[in-house]
Order: sequence, then C-alpha cells, then structure tokens
Amino acid sequence: MTPRAVAARPRARRPLCYNARASRGIGPSPGPATPSSSREPGPLADPIAYLDHAATAAPDAEALLEARPFLDGAWGNPSSAHRLGVDAERGLREARRRLAAALGAGRDAEVVLTGGGTEANNLAIRGLLRTRRREGRHVVASAVEHPSVLETCRDLERTGDATVSWIAPDADGMVDPERVVAAITDETVLVSIMHVQNETGMLHPVETIARAVKRARPDIAVHADGVQAFGKVRLALAEGGLDLYTISGHKIGAPKGIGALWIRPGTRLAPLVTGGGQESGLRSGTENVFGAVAFGAAAARATADLAAFEERIDALGARLRAGLVELGGVGNGAGVPWIVNVSFPGVKPEVALHALEERGVFVSTTSACASRKGKTSHVLAAMGLPDERIGSALRFSLGATSTGACVDAALTALAEVLPRVRRAGRAGRGRAARPARA
Ligand code: PLP
Repeated sequence: MTPRAVAARPRARRPLCYNARASRGIGPSPGPATPSSSREPGPLADPIAYLDHAATAAPDAEALLEARPFLDGAWGNPSSAHRLGVDAERGLREARRRLAAALGAGRDAEVVLTGGGTEANNLAIRGLLRTRRREGRHVVASAVEHPSVLETCRDLERTGDATVSWIAPDADGMVDPERVVAAITDETVLVSIMHVQNETGMLHPVETIARAVKRARPDIAVHADGVQAFGKVRLALAEGGLDLYTISGHKIGAPKGIGALWIRPGTRLAPLVTGGGQESGLRSGTENVFGAVAFGAAAARATADLAAFEERIDALGARLRAGLVELGGVGNGAGVPWIVNVSFPGVKPEVALHALEERGVFVSTTSACASRKGKTSHVLAAMGLPDERIGSALRFSLGATSTGACVDAALTALAEVLPRVRRAGRAGRGRAARPARA
C-alpha cells in the first residue's frame, strides 16, 4: 500500500518516529505533519512508526546532504582527467576510506563498490569460485542465508559450477561453527555464513567460524554477508579470519543501489562485470559517486559512537521484545536487539501487517523480498519450526532513527488490532511450509 493510501484513512495522532519532511536539509522545510490533501509524491508527509529497518533504513539526511555536491557540483566522471573528474575521484577515495575505517579493515584494505549487497554477494561467491576452479568447487553455506547467497549457490549448483553443503541452524536459528568445519571436504574452496540473519536477528560467530575453518584449511576463503550487521556491530576485519565481507548502503541510511565487498589483500577474485576496469578491474562501470559518498558518510556516522547506539538499541529492543511477549508473541532465541521475529498464533501476518499499516505502523512478515511474493520463510523452515510458528511470523526491526515512542506506538497499535486479526482466521491454515534447505 502506498503512503498516499495510508493517509486517506482516518487515524489517531501518532508520535513522530520517522518523518522525511522533518529530516534536516532534504526536501521542503521541516514542519508539522501535513494533511493528506496537500501531499504530493515524494517524502512521506505523515509521521509513521517505521519498524522495518531490516528491509531498508530511513534515509540519513546528513549523509545525503554531504553527498549532494557530487550530484550538482563535482558531478564529473571519476575517471576523467580534468578537475571535475578529479574532484569526483576524491569523493570516491574518501568514501572508500570511510567504509574501510567502519569495517576496521586496515590501511591496505580493498573495498570494491558495487550496486548493492546482492551484487557484492554474487561477486564474492562467483568471483571466488572462478579463480579456484582447478582446486575445487565445493561450498559450505548456511541454510538461512539471504536469497542473494542462497540463489547464487543454487544457480552454481544447477550449472555444475559448484556443489554446496547446506548447514542447518538449530531451533533458535544459530549456526554451529563445528558443523561448518565438519562439512569441509578436500574440494572445499569457500565457506559463506551470514553475520546477522535478516529475519531472526541471530548473530552468527563469523570470526570464530573463520578461525576454525582456517585452522582446518588455511586455503579456504571465508565470506560473511554483513549487510544486517554493518554500522551496528563493531568490526575489526583486518585482525580476524574473514576474507570477504559484504555490506549495503540502504540498510544504514544511504540510497539504494550502492554496496561494497571488502576483500582481504591476497584474496583472488574474478570480475563479474567487465569493461573499463574501474574498481581495480573487479567491477567495471562508471561509479555511483553520489551513492558512494552518501554510503561513506552514513557509515562514518553510524560507527562514530557505537557504544551509544548499543546502549540505546539494547534498551529499545528489550522494550519491544517484552511488549511483544506480553501480547502473546512467541519467538525463538534472541539475536541482535534490532531484529525481533515473533509469531502470534492464529494470526495471518499479512492481515496484521496491513491492519498495523492503517495505524501508521510499518512492519514486515518475512524478509522484504519474500513477503511481497507471499512466500513463507525458508529461514524459519530451516530452523525446523512448526507450521503454525512459520505461518504467523512478523518481523519488527529497529534502526538509528527508532525511538521509544515508536516502539510504544507499535505495541499499542498491535494490542488494538490483534483481537480483530485473530478473528480473521488462524494463520498458516492450508499452507505448506517450504522445506528446509539443509
Ligand atoms: N544480505 C542480507 C542479509 C540482506 O538483508 C539484504 C537485503 O535485504 C541483502 C543481502 C541484499 O542487499 P541489497 O538490497 O543491497 O541488494
């Protein structure tokens, strides 16, 4: 449903949790929420309780403002030899430096800019396998990976370019490092385990996994999809055992369509996109300078005071989780505080989602990509959860702009809608859960 449709419905006053117009510096001047009749396409005019940050974060207005001169000032092609190009190139260099710093990646870090997290995951997996063909084609990955890893591996299996061992998580969604190591064969060239799971919030011990893999076989490359962790989890990649780490801009307030892959020096990759040789030959194409600068700025801002973020998000997450449990929500093991996945038995999640939306509360059923397609969660299925839990799951996810008022607004709205949506029918009835891929 569009913001316009939401605005057409009558509703009570809500606390401000996110209002793009009120964001400093971007768009029309800040002001109170405007009536629906005066809204035009563009930023949401009304405050909403946005609890879907795992799908995409609210824009970071300051980061966009920093990047703005690269749209209408230093708009040159970074490969051009003249001043406009040199200025753009300087913006890119600074963005890369900031991303490397946020990753704890060291001075000689290689940060290859991509068109997002999906592309970075593809580059990591396909790019690595292409350089290791003679050594082997076996991959170890978890069954709860994001589709950008899962489907890439499956595609490689289909074409005969890879064989994959899928590691099932436990009932809490946690991937056991020992099971990962046990799946290694003489043919293994890559291990790919995501850092923070995007549906359950489980934080996998990717550094422990990397060290265990390296102890067993130092030549195996270890990749982590860090899209839901970056900007929220303290990282020191230079000192750890990982070789490849994926990040995405729009999960931390940068625009959609910008991401990056961190590559440990010495890790060989083949490019997927060939052409002018940009990004050290690993990703040809004129760079998205505006996106990169905004990404660098958003990363610097997100990681400037991680201790304060942790303190705030721990309290907000605890408040949210406790409120959801009080309302009858059933969850599994707790992961990071910014992603909470609970089921309300007897509730169809898509009905609850839209009932909440009518009250200005935005949440998600499974992942954003699965929910619009009406798919049930491959993640909860891989955890071996009962159909009832899988078929009635809602994801609430917090971010840098979340507030206590926002969490309270969501809980109040949920308390109002639950009796009605429960009556609308028991969730999951007649639906077959997708089998676990492990
Ligand atoms: N990996 C994870 C864990 C994600 O949650 C997402 C997006 O939801 C991606 C990868 C894909 O990132 P992007 O949307 O930048 O392609």
